[in-house]
Amino acid sequence: MKSVVYREYAPDDNYAKILKVEDLDDPKPKPDEVVFTVKSAALNYNDIWGMRGVPVAVPLPHISGSDAAGDVVAVGENVKNIKVGDRVVSHTNMACRVCQACTDGREFDCTRRTIWGFQTGPLWGAYCELAHLPEVNVVKLSDEVSYDQAAAASMTILTAWHMLVGRAKITPGQTVLIMGGGSGVGTFGIQIAKLYNCDVIATAGPGKMDKLLELGADYAVNHREDGWHKEVWRISKEIAKKNGTAPGIDLSFDHIGETHWNKQLTLLKYGATLVSCGATTGYNAMTDLRHIFFKGTNILGATQGTRAELEQGIYWMGRGKIKSVIDSTFTFEQAAEAHTKMLTGDMFGKILLKPEGA
Ligand SMILES: [Zn+2]
Repeated sequence: MKSVVYREYAPDDNYAKILKVEDLDDPKPKPDEVVFTVKSAALNYNDIWGMRGVPVAVPLPHISGSDAAGDVVAVGENVKNIKVGDRVVSHTNMACRVCQACTDGREFDCTRRTIWGFQTGPLWGAYCELAHLPEVNVVKLSDEVSYDQAAAASMTILTAWHMLVGRAKITPGQTVLIMGGGSGVGTFGIQIAKLYNCDVIATAGPGKMDKLLELGADYAVNHREDGWHKEVWRISKEIAKKNGTAPGIDLSFDHIGETHWNKQLTLLKYGATLVSCGATTGYNAMTDLRHIFFKGTNILGATQGTRAELEQGIYWMGRGKIKSVIDSTFTFEQAAEAHTKMLTGDMFGKILLKPEGA
């Protein structure tokens, strides 16, 4: 099978130097595994960390990629719920399934968990023609969800659903701030908050305001402007007047981190929640603690999510209530170009990587 492989790191981000399309042996399923053709795969920032070799020295040689969707072509002897011909999407969170956290329903807190295609290997990820995963790490797709839609959703809809529904316990009618609404998680964050009939204020860089509104955001704010937080506050007052509630944000959805962190805290209502799944601008954020104790603020962290949460997100995609936003599509041969594009951040939604002819 054709696979995108690297055998050394590229700390200088020169991906073209290390990424090669190689022909490898087709995988055979282990007793608990399924093998599926990769019809579509999607990029995540983890892929860049992997190629840099920091902060995690991923196993070499490496096949990157955590999101893949396709058709099951073989199943191991112990597989119970998946059969040949099923359409599936990957669930990237590879937890041990037997520890206290796992058996408590918190597979995302498993200390032995790894992310498929990032920490797994050597040569075990999504950017290949035939992927293999334990049965528990795939979710079935209904015919309404295309391979491209599913691949572009996998890890990002899981993360966004877990942040808003699993961790922050979103409720209808809340005023929700989606920071970085143009990223993969952000585009799903907007749609999930609208599924809950919330008033949604989404932020992004300039030139993306119309796209935020098209996704269902009620208000769009350019977060590169110095006064972005004042604009969010002004909008929250407008919403408060409409709903007869106090101004401010009930639930803030963050993955931007350092540059916008403390300003977000100033926007929260009393007893509000900020849920974070990342820090793309840096982790060394300043926190004015008065905004935490005085307002009774809940700060929640979130990473990955459960298989059941992915199923819920995929269910709503099948019902046409949530869709993936796809920025662009590249072939395996163009893998370096695709990752360089992701590094620039010049995109709206997900970048797909597909085998020739898929
Ligand atoms: Zn575990």
